[in-house]
Amino acid sequence: MVEPASIIVSIRNLSRSFGNVRAVDGVDLDIYAGEFLTLLGPSGSGKTTVLRMIAGFERPDTGLIELGGKDVSQLPPYERDVNTVFQDYALFPHMDVISNIEYGLRIQGVEKGERRARAEKALAQVRLEGYGSRKPAQLSGGQRQRVALTRALVNRPSVLLLDEPLGALDLKLREQMQIELKELQREVGITFVFVTHDQEEALTMSDRIAVFNQGKIEQLGSPREVYENPLSPFVSEFVGQTNKVVIDGRSINIRPEFITISKSKKFGDRSVVGKLHDAIFVGATTRYLVHTDLGQTLMSTQPDGEFSVGDFVTLSWESKKEFLVN
Ligand code: ATP
Repeated sequence: MVEPASIIVSIRNLSRSFGNVRAVDGVDLDIYAGEFLTLLGPSGSGKTTVLRMIAGFERPDTGLIELGGKDVSQLPPYERDVNTVFQDYALFPHMDVISNIEYGLRIQGVEKGERRARAEKALAQVRLEGYGSRKPAQLSGGQRQRVALTRALVNRPSVLLLDEPLGALDLKLREQMQIELKELQREVGITFVFVTHDQEEALTMSDRIAVFNQGKIEQLGSPREVYENPLSPFVSEFVGQTNKVVIDGRSINIRPEFITISKSKKFGDRSVVGKLHDAIFVGATTRYLVHTDLGQTLMSTQPDGEFSVGDFVTLSWESKKEFLVN
């Protein structure tokens, strides 16, 4: 985790409407230098609009955006020390890889020799040495994404904005790129602001997550804080899965992975019996749905066990793993 020493982006009371849709509704957010911050939320929650306002592609109706202590709210994108990586890569199709990467440096007037050297070095960083003379169409999706990333990083922006950059990749490649991207971010030490609607992706990559709901940040914290201590029903349901249980008239939440299923043994100070309604094999684990004596169906996610639908089972958990949401 990065020390919250210096704030690189400071956002105050940021709002933006489209017609009568309040896309972003009074957002306050401080982003620390060198951190990997994810804007997470369902489709339409306003995260992309926030990113586009930081980039300068969209103007706020109200509010302030400071970059490195300077108000940039009214500056065009090219006068802001940020670069954006888009889901569709936005590479120039007629240029080869090395020219794509050098493009920003050429615009800045960096001399040819240095330009080439920096571009080659950046290509090596994403393990694409030798690909410089290919056209984007001659690359795989993952390689294209790495080129898009390199093209942004070579400019050494103080902040890199990433708008669902892994969205077009298949699951396997996506998971691999999540790890690569996180490693690269640590290596280069540039602040990443990353937009996704995928909670697992957010948990895997981020130093902190801002959870968006209807144009507002509902919670801001480390992946662990957001997952283990969600502050609202929305966050508890959007980030991970949860069971709601009424015990002694109180509604508590317990994550499915903390509920053990057994024929009769208890593991923890809470338990309930019930009948196994369904068992869904999902690879490393199985999701057990149990109709309980509480009158509620609970989900337990555990390694595959010797249970058949219709079995009477005991579900148990540690009450210290429960959390309350209001
Ligand atoms: P997604 O993951 O689908 O991109 P998001 O959380 O990034 O969603 P935004 O793209 O920021 O959400 O959109 C927030 C709201 O603003 C949505 O209701 C969207 O339809 C609306 N909106 C965004 N951009 C525009 C635009 N240029 N014109 C009209 N409405 C827009």
